This record gives sequence, C-alpha cells and structure tokens, in this order.
Amino acid sequence: MDVIGKGLPGMKIRTFVIAYVFALAIFLFAQRPARPEPDPRFLVIDLTHSVNQNVPTYELAEHSAYREQTIATIEKDGYFARQISLPEHYGTHLDAPAHFVRGLWTVDQIPAERLVAPLVVLNVQRKAAQNPDYQITVDDIANWEQVHGHIPQAAVVMANTGWESRWNSEKNYRNADRQGIMHFPGYSLESARFLVEARSVIAIGIDTLSIDYGPSKDFPVHKYSLSHSLYQLENVANLSQAPEFGATLVSAPTKLEGGSGAAVRLLALVK
Ligand SMILES: [Zn+2]
Repeated sequence: MDVIGKGLPGMKIRTFVIAYVFALAIFLFAQRPARPEPDPRFLVIDLTHSVNQNVPTYELAEHSAYREQTIATIEKDGYFARQISLPEHYGTHLDAPAHFVRGLWTVDQIPAERLVAPLVVLNVQRKAAQNPDYQITVDDIANWEQVHGHIPQAAVVMANTGWESRWNSEKNYRNADRQGIMHFPGYSLESARFLVEARSVIAIGIDTLSIDYGPSKDFPVHKYSLSHSLYQLENVANLSQAPEFGATLVSAPTKLEGGSGAAVRLLALVK
C-alpha cells in the first residue's frame, strides 16, 4: 500500500514512523538476555595486580611514587575524574627493549601482534620456597617440555615462583637483607638464552620485581633478553590460576609514546 500516495496528512505519517521506531526498540530490547552471560569462547584469567600507592617497588623509597588527585567530583562537576602519576615500571608492568638498549622498540613501537601469544607457565614454587635466590634453569624448562612437549614458537614464558603470596608486604616482597641486597627468584642467563635461541620465545615474565634475581647488580637477563627485542613482564599476578599450557596471553600496555615500559593489563584466555 502506498501510504503517501493515499494523501495522508504529514502528521499521521510522523505518528506512524514514531510508533514504528518505538515498537522496534521494544522488540530489540526484548531480545536482550536478562543477564549478560560469560563469553562461551573462553574463560578470562586476570594476571594483573591493582595499581595503588601500596605497590612494592624495586627502588626503596620513603614515599610511594604513585600519586592520585581528584580533579572532578560528581557532586561538584557532574562527573568523577582523577589525575594520576606513576613510574613506567610500577606494579604489573611491561619492559620494552628500549629499557636497556638504545634504538630498540619503545613500548608504543612493539608490534601489536606480538602482544597476543601462547602462554607457557613454568612452576618453580617448590624450589623458590627452599631458596629465595633461586634462578630458573634449563632443567626447569626441560621438565615442562616432558609434560607438554616443545614450547611453541613465539610464546610468552612466565615463571610462577609463588612470590606473589608476599605482594601485600613490601618488606617481604623486596626481601632485602641488612646490606639492602634483595633476595627473590629470577631467570638464569642460560635459561633465557635457551628460550630465545632454541625456542624463539617473544617475551618472558615473572611474579617478582625483576626478571633478574634479587641480588643481581648488572642485570644480565635484562640485557640479553631486551637486546634480542623480547619484552618482559614483571610483578605478574594469579599465575597459579592459569594452566601451564593452552592459554592465550593478551598483554595490553598503555601505548606510551617513547616509553621504556608501561603498566600492563595481562589477560589469559583459556578455551
Ligand atoms: Zn621493569
């Protein structure tokens, strides 16, 4: 039927159109499920600590380097907003190759496709519990491979040392002795060499303050791994919730132009 051809007044057409749009909206809203269901494609595990002023830091400081200031309130301004300031290497964060090697990728330059990768979790909790200065060995990697097979190409390898249980105590997390030397687990240079040269991993991560173990003064693993254009993930959380193999890791750092590193949101997607 040609409504306009029948010469209905403009007002009636407008009423008709409004009624139609309204009915359509009701129909579409009715199709919305009552409660949003979790994504059936995968389970999401958050491997990130919250950012606040209590985050333990590598450098010992009297006051937190993290600042937050409320710059707008709903009562006064109609919206809520804060201004924050934090070091590039704070909390769960990513180290870009430029952190130790001039001219290599800054955090914004790491290609996005390298930020989504198969996740491998090495469990060394028992060894680290016996020796806080434990350094992950090639043997630890061989043990993992005996169970799961070869580490796939372009994977991110994480060390679950159990150190996360100390997160809420800066003193225990830094674990410094009387001379101020820290004691926490890290990677041995040999294990990093093996992961890069024999297994072509693209990133390594750990649940401590540093990829290099606590007493390190010259950061050999940082220098080696970053000079090979890997990125590093430090102060990682919830690794015991992630499977040792089979998850996909999404590392989403703030795209900070020229940055040596940045706070990162780490999500493990488990099928
Ligand atoms: Zn760092």
